[in-house]
Amino acid sequence: MSDCIFCKIINGEIPSKKVYENDFVYAFDDINPKAKVHTLVVPKKHFDSLNELDDEKIMSEILKGIKEVAKIKGIDSYRLQVNTGKAEGQEVMHLHFHILSNTVERK
Ligand code: 5GP
Ligand code: ZN
Repeated sequence: MSDCIFCKIINGEIPSKKVYENDFVYAFDDINPKAKVHTLVVPKKHFDSLNELDDEKIMSEILKGIKEVAKIKGIDSYRLQVNTGKAEGQEVMHLHFHILSNTVERK
């Protein structure tokens, strides 16, 4: 999607602080962190929101990516947030999982 900021982050057109990447997912720190750790995990393929996600391989890769980020960030305890739809606060229409934690055990 040419006008999507997260697609631009994934393909490097917009810089980001990368945390983790594999063939299916890209993870980067939120530009406006709401916790000590605030990382976004996004599928490389564009889906507007969770409602459009229909690929079971990508579903499992997102969860594996979240666990990788938790390991990299040194957090055993964290919250996931997936705002779905503009009415419930989704501002960027490219599916993303917020990983939020204030209990960082190690650097
Ligand atoms: P939403 O409200 O859609 O669930 O969350 C969008 C998130 O994307 C927000 O937390 C916002 O700070 C983050 N964000 C928006 N634009 C950028 C950007 O260009 N770079 C990064 N790293 N984060 C962004
Ligand atoms: Zn996109």
